[in-house]
Amino acid sequence: MPMQSSWLRPNGLRPTLRQLMILVIHSALLFALVTPFLRGGSFLIASIVLPLSPPLLAGLILLLDAPGPVKYWLVGLIASPTLAGFVAWLDFLAVEVGTRGLDRAFPLLVLLNVLGLSSLILVFKRLPRRCSECGRRSMLPLAQLRWCATCGFRTILQPEKRGRAKPPTR
Ligand SMILES: [Zn+2]
Repeated sequence: MPMQSSWLRPNGLRPTLRQLMILVIHSALLFALVTPFLRGGSFLIASIVLPLSPPLLAGLILLLDAPGPVKYWLVGLIASPTLAGFVAWLDFLAVEVGTRGLDRAFPLLVLLNVLGLSSLILVFKRLPRRCSECGRRSMLPLAQLRWCATCGFRTILQPEKRGRAKPPTR
């Protein structure tokens, strides 16, 4: 994958103005989604907005953010707690609805919780690492590649020896 210099973020991974605007649109959409339910007093239905929030934001970034590796990394990072969010919401729902009839659903809920918690490992795997070249926390995990969004330094992970980096290529 050829890397363009225009993709670099010299100031690190601070959000761009465009990303801040996307965040504003995201908040407005969530607000518009939740208001009719809150007016009707359906707090339980309105709470669906919490697990919907990460996939919605990831979708908006995919749609509206400037192209480049940072965008695709960010979409993956933001979408990865989606399952955990839904499971947490189901837990909340189960507590709210009460324990009646929960006996049958309980094993499923436990299984979902295990899946949800293990999916959180993905979030940690996708966090940026510190770059050995410029020292900034901008090293992004991108498939077989580790790419620094600040200085462009990259290492390619060899498929047969996963985790071991090849000598740096620029
Ligand atoms: Zn760097």
